[in-house]
Amino acid sequence: MANVQFADVRKSFGAFPVIKGVNIDIEDGEFVILVGPSGCGKSTLLRMLAGLENISGGEIRIGGRTVNSLPPKERDIAMVFQNYALYPHMTVARNMAFSLMLNAAPKEEIDRRVSFAAGILGLTNLLDRYPRQLSGGQRQRVAMGRAIVRDPQVFLFDEPLSNLDAKLRVAMRAEIKELHHRLKTTTVYVTHDQIEAMTMADKIVVMHDGRVEQIGSPLELYDYPDNLFVAGFIGSPAMNMIKGKLDPENPQVFVASDGTRLPLAKPFAQAVGRSLVYGLRPEYIQLGGEGLKAEVVVTEPTGYETQIIANFGGGEITCIFRERIDVQPGEPIGITIDPAHVHLFDEETGMRLV
Ligand code: ATP
Repeated sequence: MANVQFADVRKSFGAFPVIKGVNIDIEDGEFVILVGPSGCGKSTLLRMLAGLENISGGEIRIGGRTVNSLPPKERDIAMVFQNYALYPHMTVARNMAFSLMLNAAPKEEIDRRVSFAAGILGLTNLLDRYPRQLSGGQRQRVAMGRAIVRDPQVFLFDEPLSNLDAKLRVAMRAEIKELHHRLKTTTVYVTHDQIEAMTMADKIVVMHDGRVEQIGSPLELYDYPDNLFVAGFIGSPAMNMIKGKLDPENPQVFVASDGTRLPLAKPFAQAVGRSLVYGLRPEYIQLGGEGLKAEVVVTEPTGYETQIIANFGGGEITCIFRERIDVQPGEPIGITIDPAHVHLFDEETGMRLV
């Protein structure tokens, strides 16, 4: 087991910088997910940790040891890739044993480790099959088994679930989480799927354009996003963002660009005159009451809740109501905002005001 540190890590491909000074501290045994939109640099960062890309600047440490110039096999890590990279002509058992055989481990040791990994992954009855005789989820498990038999200090996962259908993804999410709970191996996991990040991680690192936007537990990021990028990225459906300014006479009232007045929990006198964004998660809007008048644009029942997109004059707002509501497009509804859950952002800097 080991901690992992990225200290001012940089990477350029030619003259093109893709990692622009990243600092992340990962504790021993932690499950950390790097998340961000396509191209933000998360796979590159993981590949640098694995030793598959060289490092243009800064330091990467595993268990306190700087690994910048160590080849992959000396880093004591095991990586699970998106495409599983199984050997098609080898059985499941042999796929799992292969790296140990390369290292000339004793046969009993190999058998013991393979049967341990097969046991926890539910592969015991499939050890004689070939990859083509397995389902997508089973192949994914074999890829994980191959990592587990090596008993590494750190597991690395690069979008391991993206080739699976939606239902299997949910099931594998739970399996990987349970596996981590059992083995407690430090894990660094890359995905672009914020729901995967929210449901699996001890700690999420939100990346954007080669930089870290924020690091925190899933609920910290959800409840206290530092800036507009994190606020918009974490949460589904996304946070409503309404542009406007404060009422200079009463800085506890936000005035949307169409003149609609929206409540705040406290006055923000320091931000009068600035262009701001009013951030409101869809679930903190109640139906009815003395709040806003809006017109229904779309109703989407999911069975246990109803999502409604409504127009309040200043634009469209997404609401989630924890009940079944039968309203049609064009119908008027009243909605009430809970100001305790509103975030206010500076539009220019993107930072959340506190
Ligand atoms: P995705 O979710 O699409 O995989 P990502 O966040 O993992 O995206 P990276 O694959 O790390 O992003 O890529 C980061 C940036 O580096 C991108 O702009 C990409 O085009 C660039 N890049 C990656 N590998 C190379 C390479 N070998 N040569 C040049 N540019 C590269």
